[in-house]
Amino acid sequence: ATPLAVAAGIRDAARRGIVIVSDAVFEQAAGVDTVVLDKTGTLTDGEMQLLDTVAADARPESVRRRAAALERASPHPIAEAIVAGVDDDGAATDGGRTATATTTATVTDRGVSGRVDGDDVVVGHRSLFGGDEWTIPERLHEAGSNARDGGRVPVYVGWGGTVRGVLVVGDEVRSGWEDVVDELAADGRRVVLLTGDSPEAARRFEEHSSVDEVFAAVPPEAKAETVRRLAATERVAMVGDGSNDAPALAAADIGVSVASGTDLAADAADAVLLEDRLSAIPELFDVTRGTNRRLT
Ligand code: ADP
Ligand code: MG
Repeated sequence: ATPLAVAAGIRDAARRGIVIVSDAVFEQAAGVDTVVLDKTGTLTDGEMQLLDTVAADARPESVRRRAAALERASPHPIAEAIVAGVDDDGAATDGGRTATATTTATVTDRGVSGRVDGDDVVVGHRSLFGGDEWTIPERLHEAGSNARDGGRVPVYVGWGGTVRGVLVVGDEVRSGWEDVVDELAADGRRVVLLTGDSPEAARRFEEHSSVDEVFAAVPPEAKAETVRRLAATERVAMVGDGSNDAPALAAADIGVSVASGTDLAADAADAVLLEDRLSAIPELFDVTRGTNRRLT
């Protein structure tokens, strides 16, 4: 790529809110066989809201307060939704009288654990509550599967060996996502959805004809491995969130991050989409195509 053509491409991209960080984008984009899309924060707007609280063996208020106390330590969109939802409610009902003390908080890929009000509390994905250590009351099992069936994320909250509550969190699917995947498919690219979320939550995407393959319930640490496996036989562009999906972005031939709330300097991506606009994905391919045309 001549410096002039690259400069023109970078400028065209910038006009569309696309920051091209690495030359790899110009070198590899045209040959991309497969576009892997993350779900939460990419196909959905990532603006999670706390929608419902179901409790068993505890007061809903203690479940909510304890969960929020721990989630304060996590930057995950789910955590932010829980903290904001509980704070709003607390302000409305008791003026924030009953602050809950956290003495420690350990953030992992699937949730947060720590000591709150003298109990060891765990908040997060159902898989954190497996094995003999945990009892999950039937009512909470049901709340969890109902949430998943509705495309929502159930967040489990437990202490003392018992799951005490399920917080239901959800966001909205970005409008126009169908057109975007149609456009990628019309360009002859395979469209793959990769999500840590449940198969039920992925179903509405799977049903769309331009989506070729769906990998659901992929734990965060396995996302990069899935991308690596695809990239062994295909040229892969991965679009995801710059912080949670950083290893998967790095494993792809081209990593594209959706900028929302990410520190650009710490971003491992080859290109960054600055605006909440999914159509920037096909535009990225258009821009590089234009650049390569100028080269020949
Ligand atoms: P996605 O692939 O949909 O973007 P992530 O890989 O970011 O999802 O997270 C996978 C799952 O881990 C989430 O759906 C959620 O169940 C759980 N999880 C991760 N972080 C948190 C947190 N801070 N609080 C509660 N649950 C969490
Ligand atoms: Mg994500």
